[in-house]
Amino acid sequence: MKEDTVLKKNEECIIHIEDMGNDGEGIGKYQGYTLFVKNALVGDTVRVRAMKCKKNYGYARLMEIITPSPYRVEPRCRIALQCGGCTLQHLDYEEQLRRKQKKVADCIERLGGITGGYELCSIIGMQNPYYYRNKAQFPVGSKNGKLSIGFYAGGSHSIIDTDNCCIQAKENEDIVRAVRSFLEEENISIYNEETHEGLVRHILIRVGFVTGEIMVCLVINGNDLSDKEKLVEKLKSIKGMKSISLNINKEKTNVILGNKIRPLWGEPCITDYIGAVKFRISPLSFYQVNPAQTRVLYEKALEFACLQGDETVWDLYCGIGTISLFLAAKAKKVYGVEIIPQAIEDARENARINGIENAEFFVGAAEEVLPEKYRQEKIDADVIVVDPPRKGCAESLLDTIVLMAPKRVVYVSCDPATLGRDLKYLTSRGYELKKVQAVDQFPHTGHVETVVLLKQM
Ligand code: SAH
Repeated sequence: MKEDTVLKKNEECIIHIEDMGNDGEGIGKYQGYTLFVKNALVGDTVRVRAMKCKKNYGYARLMEIITPSPYRVEPRCRIALQCGGCTLQHLDYEEQLRRKQKKVADCIERLGGITGGYELCSIIGMQNPYYYRNKAQFPVGSKNGKLSIGFYAGGSHSIIDTDNCCIQAKENEDIVRAVRSFLEEENISIYNEETHEGLVRHILIRVGFVTGEIMVCLVINGNDLSDKEKLVEKLKSIKGMKSISLNINKEKTNVILGNKIRPLWGEPCITDYIGAVKFRISPLSFYQVNPAQTRVLYEKALEFACLQGDETVWDLYCGIGTISLFLAAKAKKVYGVEIIPQAIEDARENARINGIENAEFFVGAAEEVLPEKYRQEKIDADVIVVDPPRKGCAESLLDTIVLMAPKRVVYVSCDPATLGRDLKYLTSRGYELKKVQAVDQFPHTGHVETVVLLKQM
């Protein structure tokens, strides 16, 4: 039996949008019943039509903006509202920042149970919140026999055709045009997701923002590309071009890259820097997508770690070792732990090319490696840095941290909710929250990164 809800499917109502969800959806109430509305902004008064009604909340479609939010702006990108990438481009950037800061503070209060006693630093946004991404993956498809290259529409795999994107590197435009003309002129077959036939699937582009070096990798459902010299000819004249390759992905999957790379021209890797640390990046390597704000975030982590040069430091969930290598210059010894073996190989290689000898890396789950090294090898910690994925830290890891009793814990978080939860755990076991700094790594999306400092009481 269907439950009675305040609204029924297809009924319309007028609501005021009071808040926004993680994916940029507007949230408002109709007679106490919560509605989520895509493309509605905080401050808007809107007419909506109920689409899906659950017991305590529902989803509604935006029908008309009756009074626009004072924070509503014209998005710079013409496809912003259809594209699945940016969810907040139509919200004034200063207001985006205010909302992200508020979300972090709310989670610390509501989920962390911490109501004050710490310094809430002002969120650090970008001077120019456009063209910040150094990595783009353009899906390639065919619609009614016509080539389409661009981005997926929100929640679908339908491609919106475009050569540019105003949060990605400007260089992409010339590259996409060159690949597009090559595919058209040579009549190259295009991959079809449904039938799993056709060749070209994606264009991967990476740009070293500090070095200006560019990498282009064409993902194909096959072993080779006919007339590849013609593609190279078109691409190699683009300023900064350093590496051109094919990636072989013959699987029926949504995963973009396969494991095999076939070099076509130039170097196998490009180089880039975050601060003074150099990174070598292959098509398959993980690398932070907003290097400018990554530097800001990790410099804050370094500042909070407050190293004097004689400390033993752990960098848990270290990825390719970015934070570890930042910390190594100021510490006696840094230990990094990461679950993906390839990332640890990259971390070791990055240490080597930077001549860093006091960083050591272990493959494994942080919650297993840390207690093992502490109990069996008696390696201790003056400072522990954690940078976990969205689900936050395992409780058993937090227990080990408490047991090891470092003077400072620096927590880098990509999800304020799990940050709040983990802070609650640590602050009820001998740690005090001292500083909170949010950094906007992903302007025009709902994501926010935070770095916090905890001290032993
Ligand atoms: N600081 C890193 C990025 C961290 S992202 C950098 O700058 O490169 C979070 C990382 O945690 C990912 O690399 C992920 O592979 C890793 N990870 C996930 N679960 C883990 C676990 N249980 N133990 C160790 N690492 C884990």
